[in-house]
Amino acid sequence: MDLLRHAELSRRAVLAAAAFVPLVGCAREPSPPTGGAPDDETSPSDSPEATGATDYGERAAELAGDDPVLLALVAAFTPGWLPPEAPDPEPTRIFDNVTVVGTDFVSATAVETSDGVILVDALESREQAADILVPELRSLGVDPARIKYVVVAHGHADHFGGAQYLADRYGARVLMSPTDWDVAAKDSSPDVPERDLEISDGQRLSLGGTTMRLPYTPGHTPGTVSPIFPVWWNGRRHTAMLWGGTGLPKPTSGKRDYLRSVIDYAALMRRSGVDVELNNHGQSDGGLDRMRALRDGTAGGQNPFVLGRARAQRFMRVLELLVRDKLDG
Ligand SMILES: [Zn+2]
Repeated sequence: MDLLRHAELSRRAVLAAAAFVPLVGCAREPSPPTGGAPDDETSPSDSPEATGATDYGERAAELAGDDPVLLALVAAFTPGWLPPEAPDPEPTRIFDNVTVVGTDFVSATAVETSDGVILVDALESREQAADILVPELRSLGVDPARIKYVVVAHGHADHFGGAQYLADRYGARVLMSPTDWDVAAKDSSPDVPERDLEISDGQRLSLGGTTMRLPYTPGHTPGTVSPIFPVWWNGRRHTAMLWGGTGLPKPTSGKRDYLRSVIDYAALMRRSGVDVELNNHGQSDGGLDRMRALRDGTAGGQNPFVLGRARAQRFMRVLELLVRDKLDG
C-alpha cells in the first residue's frame, strides 16, 4: 500500500470513527498516530508483517487495509478525535439470541437463554436502565424480568451504572471481578452497585444451556473481563468475543498489562474458534454502523458481526500493534 493511500485511509478512519467519546469512566488519554498487510495467519507476536512499515502504528493501519471494522479500531486509537455526532442507535437484535441496546456511547448486550438472560453491562446510570435499557429490551421482545445475571465487564460507571436498578427491580445478580469491585467502590457515581458475585479468571457462567466464559483481560482496568459465548444466526452457531475495556490506561504498567491481555486473549480466541467480534463501545469497532446495516437490511444477507476466525485474529493483531505503538511512543 502506498503512503498516500495510507494517509487517506487514516484520515477516513479518523473522520468515520470520530466516535469514542471520552466519558469520565472510560476516558482515554490522547495518543500518538497510527498505520499492516493482509495476513490471515496473524500470530500475536512482535514479528514484522510482510510490509515495509516499521512503525507499529503504520503497520496497524496497513493491516487494517480498507476493512471498516479494523479502520474504526485504528481510528479509536488515533489522537485528535472529534466528538461524535451519531444519533443514539435503535435497539438491535444482532443474533438470534443477542440483543444490543444503549446510546451512541455505550451498549448493553443481552444474551437470551431458555432459563433467562445474561446481560453484559448495564449502561451509565439507574436512569438509563429505566429509560433506555428496559424499554429497548422490551421493544425487541426481551423480558427484563428474565435478567438473571448482569456481568459488568469492568468497574467504570458507564458499565455498572444501571446494575443496581436491575438487581433491585428484577432480582438480577451482579458480577464483577474482585479487583474491579474495588475500582467501582471508589467511583464517584451515585449508582455503584452493592458488592455481589465475584468473577474468577476464566469462570464459566452457565444458564439455560448457554455457557459464557469470563476470562480476565486486565489493562483498561486491572480487573477487566472479556466474555466469550455462543451465538446463533439463522440457526447457525458462532462463537463471540466481547472486548470488555478498550481505552488504554495512562500508566505504562497498565499498557503492558493490556498488551499481554491482547496476546493471551487472541490465543484463547483461536483455541475457542471465535469468529464474532463485539465491543461495548459501538463506535470503537464500527459496531453502531453494523447494527444499522443489519436493521436496514443493507448487510447483504450477511451478519456483519461475523468476521470469521482469520479476520477476528486480524482484529486482535491490529489492536496489539496499536497498543505497541503507544508503548513505543
Ligand atoms: Zn472504562
